[in-house]
Amino acid sequence: MKYYDKLIFELSKSGRTGYSLPESSCPACGEALPAALCRSLPLDLPEVSEPDVVRHYTNLSQMNFGVDTGFYPLGSCTMKYNPKINEEVTAAFGGIHPLQPEATVPGVTEIYREMDRSLAAITGMAHFTFLPCAGAHGELTGLMLVREYHNARGDFARTKVIVPDSAHGTNPASAAVCGLEVVVVKSDARGLIDVEALKPLLGDDVAAIMMTNPNTLGLFEREVREIASLVHACGGLLYYDGANMNPLLGVVRPGDMGFDVMHLNLHKTFSTPHGGGGPGSGPVGVAERLVPFLQRPQVSGFHGNFGVIVRAYAYILMLGRENVRMAGKLATLGANYIKESLKDVYKLPIGSVCKHEFVFDGLVNDGAHDDVPGATTLDVAKRLLDFGFHAPTIYFPLLFHQAIMIEPTETESLETLDAFIDVMRRIAEEAARDPMILHEAPHNTPIGRPDETAAARQPILCYH
Ligand SMILES: *Cc1c(COP(=O)(O)O)cnc(C)c1O
Repeated sequence: MKYYDKLIFELSKSGRTGYSLPESSCPACGEALPAALCRSLPLDLPEVSEPDVVRHYTNLSQMNFGVDTGFYPLGSCTMKYNPKINEEVTAAFGGIHPLQPEATVPGVTEIYREMDRSLAAITGMAHFTFLPCAGAHGELTGLMLVREYHNARGDFARTKVIVPDSAHGTNPASAAVCGLEVVVVKSDARGLIDVEALKPLLGDDVAAIMMTNPNTLGLFEREVREIASLVHACGGLLYYDGANMNPLLGVVRPGDMGFDVMHLNLHKTFSTPHGGGGPGSGPVGVAERLVPFLQRPQVSGFHGNFGVIVRAYAYILMLGRENVRMAGKLATLGANYIKESLKDVYKLPIGSVCKHEFVFDGLVNDGAHDDVPGATTLDVAKRLLDFGFHAPTIYFPLLFHQAIMIEPTETESLETLDAFIDVMRRIAEEAARDPMILHEAPHNTPIGRPDETAAARQPILCYH
């Protein structure tokens, strides 16, 4: 850290200013504005000079990590390239208002129509709603649609949702929020849904199965066609969690695999920035027989997060049909390249060809000796920060105790992937030689190992 905290925070000194304004031409308070509405005390803002305020924000920005700073191999989160042209295109729509008469914004309705057509073509669904503002929000919307569908047929007994044990945590959470009962189906030794374990769970109380394909281990569920016919035969529907659909873009479509309802994460697969909690967009697509219910759940105001939808639209237009396919193939190639280059030093519980991401289960040699404990996955993740790489997703999925889930964005160069592999090998070598180096990492970041729960639950946002 270049400055100690005192030179970044608590800079205020009474009387300092960083701006000057021309003489106000507004009438004095109490004339145009009733005196009761006027501020009686001055605003309690920090008093700082221009260089101080510029340094404050510049230093803060450098304490952060982002896709513009370095490689970000966060599995199951799909940190995409965020084309800068997206921002220009979106800024062009900055002046419109959701209450404006539709006739004055024909371009906006055209974008929604075009996005509906493009996503339908990419996924094999009939139509999409753009109201949901996140992946989890899309799941909830999709499950509400499933319930509408069953209820409309007078079939009120379907209260169960089957979720694989490898599923993203939002899947069971959304089912529970929707008032449905979660039934877990286990994975087999290959990391895929165990079809034999699924069969006894099926019956006339099943509303749907929620599947991610490729699943959160980065593996393609090969038996998806068989699973689809089993679930349909018992009267249930198939929900597709398409948050991480990038490896399948232009290659296979959920609609053709037999799915009835799905969501996409435009803020993952379609290049719009994410992290920090939003804004996102989780459009929900449905097969033809669910179209009548599509606009029923009013899950957000107005028309969803339009700015995110514009960015995704720009990205789809920029790639075109041919290059959409390339994105998926490159994502798969990069993940397999890293996996094969590191599997002698990190434990690889499932060795088959992966899609866009894969999971290690900790170090082959964690260096444990005498009374020094071995290096853990958390230690590896912290040590990576010292080398300027963001950590992968860790301790997820829950199937492995020391899970390290790696997903390289498809736009990363071979040089970047090689640099990451070099550093991961070096860390493995350090762990074997002296695990204390890892236990004490990170050594050169502004903060080391914060209390993550407190940081999330009791953030200190005020300068006081
Ligand atoms: C990210 C993700 C979600 C949830 O998406 P949010 O936009 O974070 O709500 C759901 N499923 C999978 C597989 C994901 O990777």
